[in-house]
Amino acid sequence: MSTQVKVLVTGAGGFIGHHLVTYLKSQGYWVRGVDIKRPEYNPTDADEFEMLDLRRWDNCLQATRGIDEVYALAADMGGMGFISTNHAPILYNNALINFHTIEAARLNGVKRYLYTSSACVYPDYRQRDANVTPLKEEDAYPAQPEDAYGWEKLITERLATHYRHDYGLETRVVRFHNIFGPLGTWVGGREKAPAALSRKVAVAKLTNNPEIEIWGDGLQTRSFCYIDDCVKGITLLMRSDYREPLNLGQDRLISINDLAEVIANIAGIKISLKHVSGPQGVRGRNSDNSRLRKELGWEPEITLEAGLAKTYEWIEKQVRNTVTTGAVMVNGVMYQPLPAAALASGNLGMPVARA
Ligand code: NAD
Repeated sequence: MSTQVKVLVTGAGGFIGHHLVTYLKSQGYWVRGVDIKRPEYNPTDADEFEMLDLRRWDNCLQATRGIDEVYALAADMGGMGFISTNHAPILYNNALINFHTIEAARLNGVKRYLYTSSACVYPDYRQRDANVTPLKEEDAYPAQPEDAYGWEKLITERLATHYRHDYGLETRVVRFHNIFGPLGTWVGGREKAPAALSRKVAVAKLTNNPEIEIWGDGLQTRSFCYIDDCVKGITLLMRSDYREPLNLGQDRLISINDLAEVIANIAGIKISLKHVSGPQGVRGRNSDNSRLRKELGWEPEITLEAGLAKTYEWIEKQVRNTVTTGAVMVNGVMYQPLPAAALASGNLGMPVARA
């Protein structure tokens, strides 16, 4: 009988899930990926990939059959523009996905279960200053998370804890702080700041129009963690004995204006920032990595500049391809945008075909 550990990655068609599958394969695991869509930019490395809607109970039972360990990443999510305007579907879809997946995992005898939470669980009242005090794990309470997205994450964190106490399922909970990298959503409304700004800088470079739109005054701050550090951190946490929620992010704070300038430097162009109204989220957010260092003996190592260089290179290539072919594929849907204007704004117009 094979002793290879069998792992399920939900959300394996998405950004982090796709990279995680590749990493787990390189570590010798047998991997099943599940998602409602296939990875958009590269074929999956999973041994098995099943297209299943995990809001449905029967699909969760199918996904978790014969599995030893689950990495639960599936979620209806996006950047600030998306999560600040889709509260009801986000809460409904993600609650169904997470409640059904963990219960099916328990019934199917899964031994370890890692849930991917978010820095969006931290209360708004601790994040009102751009020069924010880095957030420690215990700062999540008294709870006042950001948006329905953050509330659902917090509830599922509690659910994971109760499944451990009541049923003995070994649960782990990671709170990501802005993960970025190549092969992630870069256009269409769900992309996050590093990808959106990389796209805008690439369009500026290719059209010789240096103006970049920034939502708000651009003085809002965040930290950003490169994807390779993220997948390494998740797997270290899964193997560790630490059972409480743990931050996983970089702790270098940077404003959105400065992030745009770093990307422009990488692209080798000068930009001018145009501040427009748009959702900004909390004023400042940073990760306190004290507990991460203590529990895992490790913290993210890849610098913002090194990660952005790889990300920008990949996004510039996507933008060039789109400008050349005049079409862009997002979530399995083909759009035919007016290249420069549509790409700069991220507004794709009407779809022309489905994959
Ligand atoms: P992503 O959107 O690229 O991946 C999520 C995947 O879940 C998508 O491929 C999507 O199709 C899939 N999904 C959605 N609904 C589904 C359903 N009903 N059934 C099956 N699959 C479904 O996002 P990501 O950036 O890879 O994020 C992965 C996880 O990490 C998510 O839980 C997210 O909330 C969390 N997270 C990410 C970040 C970040 O910076 N990327 C930050 C905090 C938390």
